[in-house]
Amino acid sequence: MIPAAFDYVRAGSLAEAMNLLQRDPEGTKLVAGGHTLIPTLKLRLASPALLVDIRGIAEMKGIQVSENSISIGALTTHAELLVSEPLHQVLPIFRQAANLIADPQVRNRGTIGGSLANADPAADWPAVMIALKAELEIASVNGSRRVAATDFFVDIFSTALEPGEVLATIHIPRPATGMRFTYRKIRHPASGYAVVGVAAGVAVTGVAADVSIGVTGAASHAFPADVAAKFLVGKPLSRENIEEAARLQSAATECLSDRYASAEYRASLVRTETRRALLALA
Ligand SMILES: Cc1cc2nc3c(=O)[nH]c(=O)nc-3n(C[C@H](O)[C@H](O)[C@H](O)COP(=O)(O)OP(=O)(O)OC[C@H]3O[C@@H](n4cnc5c(N)ncnc54)[C@H](O)[C@@H]3O)c2cc1C
Repeated sequence: MIPAAFDYVRAGSLAEAMNLLQRDPEGTKLVAGGHTLIPTLKLRLASPALLVDIRGIAEMKGIQVSENSISIGALTTHAELLVSEPLHQVLPIFRQAANLIADPQVRNRGTIGGSLANADPAADWPAVMIALKAELEIASVNGSRRVAATDFFVDIFSTALEPGEVLATIHIPRPATGMRFTYRKIRHPASGYAVVGVAAGVAVTGVAADVSIGVTGAASHAFPADVAAKFLVGKPLSRENIEEAARLQSAATECLSDRYASAEYRASLVRTETRRALLALA
């Protein structure tokens, strides 16, 4: 449980972090909250030559709610997302989801950017970002680019981030009038991570006009529940339609199996959690 030796630098700005990364992209690791990275180093699952501590970078922190969008700095902690009143007024799903992450100690240190960049298949924010149609702003010395949350999660612990890149900001379009979101999960009893978690958003104007659903925990990475969403659009949000949408999504999902939950059990949770999330919105 002792990490291999590494050099350590505290970056004071995003530009400094990007420059440090560029010198040796493969051999450098960023540390934000450190909740995942430090155990990874101790288990020697990663042995970077240089650790760049980004936690003090002010420009990567904070929540801005404007007329058309919401911007969240990657270093914003789960606890800050939980207590932000302006964010809660526009998107109460943030408080709901943050409250389901682990415990106060983890929420006080863990960052939304660290969670997204780490892409744990059972993390909560990825499902929420997909449902909210978030765009992730990625920066490097070569400039910046935006990636839709639906395209960001590539595989288990794998994202669209390339070596040398920093996840800087999360951009979320302000929801249209009438659009409501919810997040729910079945917690792993030991870690609190999602065995399966479902974030759902829908605008109901007689029929379901806009449906977006993100699922975490079920597969190798978080994904949009497009099968359920496509089935529901244009239909009344009735109990029968919701049940059928959840059934179709469950049948279409290739689920993970591990010592805690079999693929069959996870598929059944995709069905029940999708149904429950949509019923809560109906
Ligand atoms: C006991 C425990 C329980 C937990 N329970 C939950 C839970 O219920 N739900 C949940 O979702 N999460 C849970 N977590 C995860 C936790 O909330 C953090 O989100 C997670 O550890 C990563 O965030 P971090 O800021 O600590 O990142 P770090 O550990 O610092 O970094 C993680 C990885 O992301 C990279 N990275 C960090 N920031 C950036 C960035 N801005 N750009 C590019 N790369 C970056 C790092 O290089 C590293 O590879 C739990 C963690 C612990 C320890």
